[in-house]
Amino acid sequence: MSNRRKFLRSSFLSSFGLLLGRKLHAGGPYPRLAGNPVVISTWDTGLAANAGAWKILGSNGRALDAVETGVRVTEDEINCCVGLGANPDRDGFVTLDACIMDEKGNCGSVGFLERIKHPISVARRVMEKTPHVMLVGSGAQQFAVAEGFHLEEQKLSDDAKKAYEQWLKKSEYKPVINIENTRSGGAGHGPSAPTRLSNGDWNHDTIGMVAMDAAGDLSGSCTTSGMGFKMRGRLGDSPIIGAGLFVDNEVGACTATGQGEDVIRMCGSHTVVELMRQGMSPEQACKAAVERIIRIKGEKAKEIQVAFLALNKKGETGAFAIQKGFSYALKNNKEERMYTAKSWY
Ligand code: ASP
Repeated sequence: MSNRRKFLRSSFLSSFGLLLGRKLHAGGPYPRLAGNPVVISTWDTGLAANAGAWKILGSNGRALDAVETGVRVTEDEINCCVGLGANPDRDGFVTLDACIMDEKGNCGSVGFLERIKHPISVARRVMEKTPHVMLVGSGAQQFAVAEGFHLEEQKLSDDAKKAYEQWLKKSEYKPVINIENTRSGGAGHGPSAPTRLSNGDWNHDTIGMVAMDAAGDLSGSCTTSGMGFKMRGRLGDSPIIGAGLFVDNEVGACTATGQGEDVIRMCGSHTVVELMRQGMSPEQACKAAVERIIRIKGEKAKEIQVAFLALNKKGETGAFAIQKGFSYALKNNKEERMYTAKSWY
């Protein structure tokens, strides 16, 4: 047989083998777990958000619809940590970031979006109605308005106004988290994501949610105002697919919260999903990702908070944080409650 014929024959056989392999592995390393929907989301605002998501998940709806509906509940809360009521940037403007990803690898994202109440829904429209993944700034706003989203008045909530006025007293900008800072009585140094409150809890500015629906499919969403008093134009991890959120329907899904810069530099959520693909449980994968940040940051890791929250195809969940105090909300057919994640420190 000529070399060329041998080559063609072996390419055909290996492509056939690959196809067969794909077929055999369809659904990924885990068997599809139908009939056991579950949703998890970051921080205590996650309880209400999960209840919103459950309206869809509990009636056999799609995880994608659930994660959009769920985080919209948090975006709606005017005195909360994300959405238009949140802390502004250092020039006094609230700028919002969000992203969403479904079970087919479709994803959409908006960054530096102003005066729009539901950035998560704009992110979904980017995913469904444009050939792009990400729109930012005035272009994202223009797209939102063209899609029928209302342009809200820029008006700080009372909490955010108070925190901003406090910060303005020094208006000192250091892109390092002061862990003693507080949102309401804050010392006012630098940006504030997430900061430690006087009771020892951590303040935060993000909700990330991942869910599996009754059909066994995964989706995720993440929405934030980002660090309070950030430099104008700054984007964190939350709108970046692979950093603040990643979904792989064969393996699992992950979302992140905390100092976005440190999540971006090691592709946090993607890393966690890949570690789960290698066989780690959600908690082990989140811990290994946190350890990677600690190796990169060294001593400086003491000054920051980053937390990962993950779900695998078996419906198992887990989390891990750098600092104590990261809590997440879980809802499935059996329970609806808060969990406290383990931490490095
Ligand atoms: N990850 C967000 C950011 O860096 C902040 C947060 O989670 O609180 O913008």
